Amino acid sequence: MISDLDTLFESGGNDSFPPDVELLALDGEDPPVDLARGEFSEVQNDLAPLFVQSLIANMRDGVVSIDDQYTIRIWNRGAERLTGKAGQVIANQTWNPGLIGLCDESGIPISNEHCPVRHAIGKSVQSIRRLWINKPAGDTVSIDLHIVPVVDSFGNTVGANLLLRDISSETSLERQVQTLYERATTDQLTQICNRAQFDRAHKNFIEMHLLRDAACSLIICDIDQFKKVNDTFGHLAGDDALRLFAKLLSENCRRTDLVARYGGEEFVILCSECSLSVAATRAESIRHQLEQLRLPMLRGKQLTASFGVAEHHSNETTGAMLHRADKALLSAKESGRNRVVQMGPG
Ligand code: GH3
Ligand code: MG
Ligand code: MG
Repeated sequence: MISDLDTLFESGGNDSFPPDVELLALDGEDPPVDLARGEFSEVQNDLAPLFVQSLIANMRDGVVSIDDQYTIRIWNRGAERLTGKAGQVIANQTWNPGLIGLCDESGIPISNEHCPVRHAIGKSVQSIRRLWINKPAGDTVSIDLHIVPVVDSFGNTVGANLLLRDISSETSLERQVQTLYERATTDQLTQICNRAQFDRAHKNFIEMHLLRDAACSLIICDIDQFKKVNDTFGHLAGDDALRLFAKLLSENCRRTDLVARYGGEEFVILCSECSLSVAATRAESIRHQLEQLRLPMLRGKQLTASFGVAEHHSNETTGAMLHRADKALLSAKESGRNRVVQMGPG
């Protein structure tokens, strides 16, 4: 660890260390606390330098102080731990983001020109950014970098304090939550939405369309004689066929539609801003595309599916809409399969 605390405090300089800042309350950029106005009177006693020095030396967070020539003056043990760079090595070097392998969330190195430290000192504003440090050993640490410009009693910016807070555990928790969310909403076999996600989205979908006074429709489809497919070509080939069908449905959907595996070999598509006749035409197109495909996993044989289509009618529940589409699907099955049946209101 290197420390210029004694030097900084020599002139009785209580202007060098601002008080704690409520990190969460800091919205992007803020001017630093005006020390000249006596807002930091707590340190105006003889013990202050010793106490602050002890605090900084023992903090788990990294603390780095840089003067107005960008020379590194303080580099505590927390900074050594987070960056993998020893204080003795870093002492009196000129700050640049490459020194600690600072990168943005995409892993792109922060250039000197776009360095938030330069920005904070140049504009005399404090800021917090989520960044990554590439350590010399090759591992990466995510940090919240809080930069506080230091302003003397004449209003001159004389450098900046940097607080490096290790947020690796938070980011790994965020990643876990994301993974759990994906598991809870995605069908593992086909990687499209699962039934639970469809059920959640269906109500929202209808409400959004009612608000906009726009039509929306539901297509429900079921692969024909799929049991025979499994019996003839095996369950793994059946799985491959399900993935292929899900891909075909996704390819026929727009960004605003939602396609989900409802269960087994049954799939649903919520068609955004789509009347009954347009949805039926889209279903017919998918049906036609499917019957044209010669599937390698079925040794070149074709697969067909039956489709039921219903448009949402005002005051109708999600269950009632699903029920009408399902009735249409049943009718498609009963009248010979490999066809689209649309169901009007009632
Ligand atoms: P229909 O034309 O009347 O729909 O006949 P079907 O044979 O498709 O319908 P049935 O309900 O009799 O059989 C559905 C089959 O789908 C039985 C089941 O083993 C199979 N299946 C359901 N889920 C999966 C899956 O995840 N993978 C595989 N390979 N098969 C599945
Ligand atoms: Mg079936
Ligand atoms: Mg079925």
